[in-house]
Amino acid sequence: MEKKQFKAESKKLLDLMINSIYTNKEIFLRELVSNASDAIDKLHYRSLTDKTVKVDVEDFAIDISIDKEKRTLTIADNGCGMTDKELETNLGTIAKSGTLAFKEENNPKDMDIIGQFGVGFYSAFMVSEHIQVISKAHDSEKAYMWESYGADGYSITEAKRDSNGTTIILTIKEDTEHDKFSDYLDTDKVRAIVKKYSDYIRYPIRMDVTERKLKEGSEDEYEDVTTNEIVNSMLPLWKKNKKEIKEEEYNNFYHNNFFDYADPLKTIHTSVEGLCSYNALLYIPEHAPYDFYSKDYEKGLQLYSNGVLIMDSCSDLLPDYFSFVKGLVDSSDLSLNISREMLQHDHQVRLIAKNIEKKIKKELEDMRDNDRDKYEKFYEAFGMQLKFSVYNEFGRDKEELKDLLLFYSSKQKKMVTLKEYCDNMVDKQEKIYYACGESNAKIELMPQIEQFKEKEYDVLYLTEYVDEFTVQALMEYNGKKFANISSEGLDLGDEENSKKIEKENKDNKDMLELMKATLNDDVHDVRFTSRLKKHPVCLTTEGPISIEMEKVMRAMPTEEKIKASAVLEINESHPIAEKLKKLYKKDKKELENYTKVLYAQARLIEGLPLDNPTEISNIVCDMMAK
Ligand code: ADP
Repeated sequence: MEKKQFKAESKKLLDLMINSIYTNKEIFLRELVSNASDAIDKLHYRSLTDKTVKVDVEDFAIDISIDKEKRTLTIADNGCGMTDKELETNLGTIAKSGTLAFKEENNPKDMDIIGQFGVGFYSAFMVSEHIQVISKAHDSEKAYMWESYGADGYSITEAKRDSNGTTIILTIKEDTEHDKFSDYLDTDKVRAIVKKYSDYIRYPIRMDVTERKLKEGSEDEYEDVTTNEIVNSMLPLWKKNKKEIKEEEYNNFYHNNFFDYADPLKTIHTSVEGLCSYNALLYIPEHAPYDFYSKDYEKGLQLYSNGVLIMDSCSDLLPDYFSFVKGLVDSSDLSLNISREMLQHDHQVRLIAKNIEKKIKKELEDMRDNDRDKYEKFYEAFGMQLKFSVYNEFGRDKEELKDLLLFYSSKQKKMVTLKEYCDNMVDKQEKIYYACGESNAKIELMPQIEQFKEKEYDVLYLTEYVDEFTVQALMEYNGKKFANISSEGLDLGDEENSKKIEKENKDNKDMLELMKATLNDDVHDVRFTSRLKKHPVCLTTEGPISIEMEKVMRAMPTEEKIKASAVLEINESHPIAEKLKKLYKKDKKELENYTKVLYAQARLIEGLPLDNPTEISNIVCDMMAK
């Protein structure tokens, strides 16, 4: 018998399973039962769409049996089965390619990987020393057996099986100090595991159950009676009465179907009757999947037609901005033969999608208003997606999303919605002020922020790179425009003050021109300001590109290097102002040096690099030596 080796990647996963210290080993049964159910689904679906495939739906079943003597646990289904080729490709290589690549990159504990990805068939090696898979494809005459003792490879040989389907025979490991593998040979225990994880499976899961019963006609004599029992309730979870479903059941279903080890943050179970009837079971994950913010991530919901799975991931059911939602939709109004291309234009699907979108939004708003801690958790994971979606597509969806946004408020010292910001405005405040920086702590130190603090104006702190693009796309909220505290001309001073500054700038025009010339093309202007309190200088910008945006765009791999149009502002009431004026009269060379140092300081405060660090350091040292 020819022995084949597992593919390198599969072997690694297998070793992981065989030597697993994962405590929750019982999940192997869930994996095998759901594979069996999937296989029946496939055949069921084929029979509905292809008239030449004939089946009797009533016969569909999964049978579990135990042989204590031989230490075997057997799971058999009458689904689509596998050809020899399919046995080879499906069981010889790991299906979820990329799983291990991910593991190596991120190096989570072995245990996590099992929970996280639900590694499927191979998990049976956690409890078995020998596995036989006997399968006959529904359109094939021949049956084959795939067999393996684990790491040293597998073989595929011809076998006998009367009808289509797959039988998996596990020879259960001997008990060890840590693991009581014999539990998987105990009818009651196995039945309980099936009930726990696979209750909703739509096909009957049958088991022989033996009970001690009083002998007929006797009052004290007992006998063992074996009956074949259906273990699961068979009603799909989403069709059950909400009141009868425990949170644990929802969570188990989620782990099982959507490959997430953590419990969902929120479960949404809804059924709609009317123009278009459907049940939906939706989950908002607690954390973003590892590939969520990459182009590999695919949004979508499972789509069922009256209980039959017709598509594993239907992207038309979710708007891009809610791409993080997992779950399924089951509708009896859908045609089974519907193709991916047709879906987009299908009236029913569009109606369902619209409804689902509304429902998700409503649930998020509810969470925002009634469970803010949870909402903040959600926002931490997916806020970026919402903000990104506000400016995506030229702000097409901004109205839909603007009230779901949160930003940090300087005055309220917590995350607030834009409405909460506006409700808290000081009477005279006309704009929504925001400041951009790497962190709240860094923004706190910005010179520009002083005047806002003094006036007790609330400022939103934008610390993520998408933030500023987002507020620029919004442009305004409830008629209030957004204003960057670092933008030129944003001076909260009164009229008298601004007249004074205007005069200052006029009187010292030549000096300021000279300073600007010293800085070449680096700044657009140099001027006095009254916006600063203690700090001597700051950089502000003119036009739509702020300094933070320049930083972001610099980091992008585009040819075009967009530059913010910067203005060097000097605190008119700081002693440095007088000093500069003096130097202009006495020592123009030194004024140039001062200008360079002041500009360098302003850049450093903004977190921008210096183009001429050596020159600046030398100038400063010369000044110190004087
Ligand atoms: P997954 O189910 O996530 O694809 P598995 O490792 O559990 O990964 O299974 C690999 C593949 O083997 C499945 O995709 C399916 O094609 C096939 N398979 C597993 N069990 C069965 C079964 N009972 N009947 C038919 N095919 C099966």
